[in-house]
This record gives sequence, C-alpha cells and structure tokens, in this order.
Amino acid sequence: MALTGLQIQKLLPKTNCRECGSNTCMAFAMKLAAKKAEIAECPYASEEAIRVLSEASEPPVRGIALGPERTLKLGEETVLYRHEKTFFHQTALAVNIKDTDPPGIIEETLAAVRDYRLERIGEIFGIDMVAVTHAGTDANIFAALAKRAWETTGRPLVLRSTSPTALKAAASAVKGSRSVLSAATPETVDELHILAKENDHVLAVTAPDLDGIFKCASKLREVGFRNILLQFQTSSLAEEFQTNSAVRRAALKDAVKPLGYPFLRFLNHDADVLEIAAGAITEIDKYGGICVLPAFDPALMATLMTLRLNIYTDPQKPIQVEPKVYPIGEPQPDSPIFVTTNFSLTYFTVSGEIENSGTSGWLVVPECEGMSVLTAWAAGKFSGASIAKFVKEVRLENQVSTREIVIPGYVAQISGELEENLPGWKVLVGPQDAADIESFVKMQNAKGKM
Ligand code: SF4
Repeated sequence: MALTGLQIQKLLPKTNCRECGSNTCMAFAMKLAAKKAEIAECPYASEEAIRVLSEASEPPVRGIALGPERTLKLGEETVLYRHEKTFFHQTALAVNIKDTDPPGIIEETLAAVRDYRLERIGEIFGIDMVAVTHAGTDANIFAALAKRAWETTGRPLVLRSTSPTALKAAASAVKGSRSVLSAATPETVDELHILAKENDHVLAVTAPDLDGIFKCASKLREVGFRNILLQFQTSSLAEEFQTNSAVRRAALKDAVKPLGYPFLRFLNHDADVLEIAAGAITEIDKYGGICVLPAFDPALMATLMTLRLNIYTDPQKPIQVEPKVYPIGEPQPDSPIFVTTNFSLTYFTVSGEIENSGTSGWLVVPECEGMSVLTAWAAGKFSGASIAKFVKEVRLENQVSTREIVIPGYVAQISGELEENLPGWKVLVGPQDAADIESFVKMQNAKGKM
C-alpha cells in the first residue's frame, strides 16, 4: 500500500542536509510519495527505510514472468474490477499432458499447442503453456516428457508432481525454460524453494486450506523468495469463485502480502466439457493467473481466448488499427478507394464488406484515436481537412491512378471540404452502413464508375 509523505518522512534521517536536492527531508518525502524521486537519492537513508519503501512500492499482486525471455507475464494487477482501470496481464491458458498418456495423444497435443493460432481483430493468439503431470511412477519418464514438451513447443511448462524427486529431475531437465513447479506443500516448501531457485523456476504453493497456503507463502517471503504462485484446493465452482475473489480482495484492499501472487488452477480431468468451460471462464473472469485445461479442444480454446480478449481489453482505450492505406484483396492502381476510421471494429467491418462485394480496393484509414465514424467526426478527428492531410502524407497519389474516394454516408457533409483540400479528386458518398457496400459497388459498376 502506498505510503503518505508524512509516513515516509518518519523513516528519513530528518537532518535537512539538502544532499538529495530538496530543502528538507519532508520535501523529499513528498517527492517520494508522488514517485518523483528515488530513495537512493538520499545517501543517509537507513536499510530499514529502503526495505519499507521498496515493499510499499511493490504492486499489490506481484508480477511473475515466465519463459526464457520472461515474455509471459502474470499478476501486477491493481484493481478488482476492470472498469476501475484495466487488467494488465491476462490469464495464461495451458493444456495438460500426462506421462501415462499414449504417445500418440502426447504428440498430437504438443503439436496442437505449438501450431494453434487464433486471429481476432488483427491480433494473433497462441496457447501460452503446457502442463506436464506426473501420473506414473518413474521420475525419469516424467523428466523426459517435460524436456520433450519444452523442445517441441518452446512454451514454459507447469511441472506437476507430488514427488519432490520427480520435480527435481524435471526441473533440471528444463532449466532455462523459466517454468512453474507445482506444488510445494507445508511439508516440502523448504526443499522445493531451493530447487526452484537453483533452476530459476517459479514455485506454486498449495495446502488443503487458505491458512496453509498463507503460511507457505509467508515462509518463502521470509527467506526472500518471491517467485510464487498460489494453488488453491477447492471442490466446487462456487468455492473456486469465492476463493479467488476473497484472496484477490485481501491482496488489493488489505495489502495481505503473502496472498499478493497470481493463481494457478488445474481444471478437473474427470469433468465434462461444460464443467471445464465453466471453470475456465471463472478463472478468466475472476483473476486467474494460469488455467490448465485437461486436454486440447480447439472449440473451447477459441471461445476462451475470445472471452479473455474482451476481459483484458483496456476499457479506456478503444481498440485501434494502425493508420495507413490497406490493400483489400489484390487492388490495382485504378481500384476503388474507400476511407474509414481506425477504430478496429469499424475497420474490420468495412474491410470485410469490401471483400464480400467481390471487388478489390484500397482502404484509407487515417488516425482517429480509435473512434468510430460519427464519434470521430463529432470530435473533429475525421474531417475533410484531416483526411486530405493524411492522403497527402501517405502519398496516395503516387500509389493509385484513380482520383475518386468513397467516404462513409454518415459524414456526407464533409465531401465539399474534402474536395476543397484535395484538388483534382472527386468525392463519392458511400452507404451509411457497411453492410450496403456490396450493393453500392454493384450500383457504381453498373454506372461504369468502378
Ligand atoms: Fe533529508 Fe536525506 Fe535529503 Fe538529507 S539527503 S535532506 S537526510 S532526505
């Protein structure tokens, strides 16, 4: 929890020596509270002050980075509800394999994790992780499967075993992958945290109740180990929902540090697809860090990724595409030119309808701060002058031979201004709804204009 200037001032030497550049310790404390200075700028700050201030500046849910380049990030959340600000790091989706699965199933699953791609509004998504479960008796087989999963997919792993010996074999077999060891119990936490540290992995802690998990995480914090995930043992969907919510609330609102870590959840292997879907949705909606699916199901994966994209989209930032001239189909220099805004949904609707019309064309998309057509026009971001400026900046005249441009029907009123600012061009007013682009194109073709 952030400290006030007064609380920080009590930790400082109070000699007002000015060596930090502030006239008084109080003035420096105020700067620290406003995050406009670093405690290192005071050469006389005590170790205790440095410790307290660095703990206070930790995010309420610690960030955990996975993968060799640490590109898969979890945690660092600061709000309970997305509309309060935004969620930062989306729930990682993992697919499980067991060392007792038939080799064919294992190979199929690993290939699916490696190759699966889903495109949504211009972004490509893949499966984040593989979980490897030790269900057999041989630690070496488990370790060999972990290595195979890592080499085939290149994804960080969740290594799951109740045997410290098996975890030890697998952890060293995939050293460098920055994976997760699941899970340390109150009995094994001392041993496993050393294993995690030596092999640079993250350690999940588990216990039959929250109290046990709290004690495990506290113990790790006392020895300075912070790469922790919390793995709850719940027996129903309702309990999963309540536990995730209560723990996240404790971390954010009450600054309970041992509970301020991302969560790891394995969904039940024996559940039917609807129960699995409900469990995964609960994790995505309610603060899940890593959600392990029992098997690969492309339909479920696409559904979960689409939901996750919606939950983890910043509500304060419209989704936008890059402002530029997009070729739709295989346009030629004399192909028709359309213009719209860079709000993603508008762009994808308009480009899709141009494609559906059976024509190829150019789609001019100026910077409109991700607003839709009417909103951008009302905000002065989609005017005749601004479109003309963009057309000149991208040197559209060098790229095309046609000198006609189609504007959305909703902003017919800017046609005069656009023609004034683009001498030699003719502005055609297109339909109001993108769904009518096809009939508009047909009508223009009949007139011999496209
Ligand atoms: Fe106070 Fe430290 Fe700044 Fe000196 S350098 S005024 S002791 S905060």
